[in-house]
Amino acid sequence: MRTLLLRSLFARPVTIGAPSPEDAALAEVGAALEAQARRLFGRSITIREVDAGSCNGCELEIHALSNAVYDVERFGIRFAASPRHADVLLVTGPVTKNMKVALERTYAATPNPKWVVAVGDCACGCGIFAESYATVGSVEAVLPVDLHIKGCPPRPIELLRGLLALLKSATSG
Ligand code: SF4
Repeated sequence: MRTLLLRSLFARPVTIGAPSPEDAALAEVGAALEAQARRLFGRSITIREVDAGSCNGCELEIHALSNAVYDVERFGIRFAASPRHADVLLVTGPVTKNMKVALERTYAATPNPKWVVAVGDCACGCGIFAESYATVGSVEAVLPVDLHIKGCPPRPIELLRGLLALLKSATSG
C-alpha cells in the first residue's frame, strides 16, 4: 500500500502528447471535407460503419476518428447507428458468409444517393483472409463499391483523405 501511495505521488500525469505536425493536415482535410459535403448535400455527412467480418483492426482506426485527437464531429462528420440516416457506408473486412445478407440489407436500407467505401485490405481484396472457406469475397463481390481505401489498417487521416476524394468525385460527376 505504501509503495502504491509513493508511486502515485511521484508518477507523472497522464496527458495527451503535444500536437503533431499532422494536426495541420488533419485540420486542412477536415475543413475541405466539410466544405465539400455542404456543397454536395447542403449539410454535413453521415456515415454508417459496417463490419462485414474484419479482425477489428480497421474498426479501431475508424473509432479513432471520434476520439479527442481527431474529433471529426467538429468538421460535421457524424456516425449514425441506422443506415436510414446514412450517406456513406464504410465497410470493413472480407464479407463473411454470415454477414452477406446483413450487408445487402444495410445497403438496401440506405437512402439514395449513397456511396460505399471499402476500408482496409480485407474489404478491398480479402487481404489475409483470401480464399477462406468462411468468406464470399471482398466487398465488391457483394455491393457496388465507389472507393477503395487500402491499408492494414488505413490510418484515420487516410480515411478522411479517401472520403474527401469520394465527395470531390461525386460533386464533379
Ligand atoms: S485490413 Fe488488416 S486491420 Fe483491417 S480487417 Fe483486414 S487484417 Fe484487420
